[in-house]
Amino acid sequence: MKSYWTDAVVLRSRPLGEADRLVSLLSDSEGKIRATARGARRGRSSLVAGTQPFVYARYQLFRGRELDSITQVQLVRSHLAVRDQLLSFALASYVAEVVDWTTMERQPVPGVFRLLLTLLAELDEHPPRSPGRALALESWFELHHLGELGYRPQLDGCVLCHRPLLPSAGRSTDNSGWWLQPAQGGLVCSSCRSQSPSAEPGVLLGDEVILCLRRWQQEAEPDPGAVADPSQPAGRQLAAALRMYVDYYVNHTIRSLPFLAELMGTTAAAGDGGGPRASRA
Ligand SMILES: [Zn+2]
Repeated sequence: MKSYWTDAVVLRSRPLGEADRLVSLLSDSEGKIRATARGARRGRSSLVAGTQPFVYARYQLFRGRELDSITQVQLVRSHLAVRDQLLSFALASYVAEVVDWTTMERQPVPGVFRLLLTLLAELDEHPPRSPGRALALESWFELHHLGELGYRPQLDGCVLCHRPLLPSAGRSTDNSGWWLQPAQGGLVCSSCRSQSPSAEPGVLLGDEVILCLRRWQQEAEPDPGAVADPSQPAGRQLAAALRMYVDYYVNHTIRSLPFLAELMGTTAAAGDGGGPRASRA
């Protein structure tokens, strides 16, 4: 069976030679696929529309030794508005890049596929009108994507000494602060943090941010009213904490993050705090 059909989203698309494209697809049944699309940069080819970033379509592919090739495309949803609005485009580019780095070829991740489609549909139908709305969507995606990958941050209390957070207020019993540390898998209390000699990356979070993270972690779809204002300390903490957490697992420079961060008015400094990045080419 050299030829097959699959539903997929375009994660990345770049020119190849004079008239072709090289695309990275996330398929519901096949996981990540790298494929060429012959003639996808010529005006009349049906492949032109089907190889644009963030397009959701049904693809016929021919299995190759290293790369598959796309032979037919039936558009399902072009997500045109996502490419038309700068903030949506920047956020979708970041998300697609994170998905690209954290998925493997031929290893289906249906949960990630659904999550990506949910976010793209939201950006398509309701383009974020403010950096705060975009940051809320980004954070929601990051939390759930980490969960789909098996790295769901533990936010109920300290992962080391098991001291609980008081669920009503989000306050610790000694109120001395909580750090989100990917190397530990979630929140670490100040006292455990101070006893740890390592320089593991972490971000100190206020109660309000922890409560927000816990609420979004429960929501299967992004809250339509959620805003995380990056001009406020809580918004900046949220952005820094989740980008650092994602960066720890992506373990590779995320090229689209600086542009997104600039549009949002946040800093792009995500990781570089001691994760295992250096060990990966
Ligand atoms: Zn502790």
